[in-house]
Amino acid sequence: MRIFDPHIHMTSRTTDDYERMAAAGVRALVEPAFWLGQPRTNPGSFTDYFDALIGWEPFRASQYGIRHHCTIALNPKEANDPRCREVLPLLPRYLAKDRVVAVGETGYDSMTPEEDEVFAAQLQLAREHGLPALVHTPHRDKVTGTRRSLDVVKESGIDPGLVVLDHLNEPTVGEVAGTGCWMGFSIYPDTKMSPERMVAILREYGLERVLVNSAADWGKSDPLLTLRTGEAMLAAGFSADDVDRVLWRNPVEFYGQSGRLDLDDDSAAEATFAGNSILRGGS
Ligand SMILES: [Zn+2]
Repeated sequence: MRIFDPHIHMTSRTTDDYERMAAAGVRALVEPAFWLGQPRTNPGSFTDYFDALIGWEPFRASQYGIRHHCTIALNPKEANDPRCREVLPLLPRYLAKDRVVAVGETGYDSMTPEEDEVFAAQLQLAREHGLPALVHTPHRDKVTGTRRSLDVVKESGIDPGLVVLDHLNEPTVGEVAGTGCWMGFSIYPDTKMSPERMVAILREYGLERVLVNSAADWGKSDPLLTLRTGEAMLAAGFSADDVDRVLWRNPVEFYGQSGRLDLDDDSAAEATFAGNSILRGGS
């Protein structure tokens, strides 16, 4: 089983995790910029973090044969702190970099006017840079937050095929299915979504425009829950090709829209064969 984890925060994980992930079949990943727990108080604190996402983490991942990509944004939670707002004008410099494959995580935490403003501004940045956008749906009042996110996406004029709404669950998946946006699911040990619940959603909604991630971070989480989901799919009667579609080809298709995926020659050949002109040659 080859796995592309489309949302995992490796900054918060140990090198042992990279080793375990490689052994489990993880060959590529996307690390979205997010909230580190400790509030940041100035833009320099963000740029040091962004530099780690394009420098140190790809190096760490490469030691285990894992291709590392990232997304860059001011996250919804810190969008509420005026001291962090100065990060916005610094983003274009990062959005021009190799292996920055989307704007994100953006979206809502508490659905404040400040979050509205930063979310809309960052969707415009995605449009200007021709990049996908990763939208975090809030943990509280999720249905309202998901509907409101879809409204903001629509108002922005961005192609819905370039947008993933992440951290969906049973009450919110139906809101996103049929909008043209991608549907992201974070498989967590206790909360959000389990492998078995994910299998039930795949049965009901199909495999198209679905991304499954571990969203492993500094909280209770598990980088191998992508593998566990693949195993649960097989046990439920899905084929190995179905698993490959969900855990590899779908994230390659979504993030490939950036033109910046850095995958090995085998994967590139397979993606080209699948008719996706999504891999930029030679960079
Ligand atoms: Zn995240």
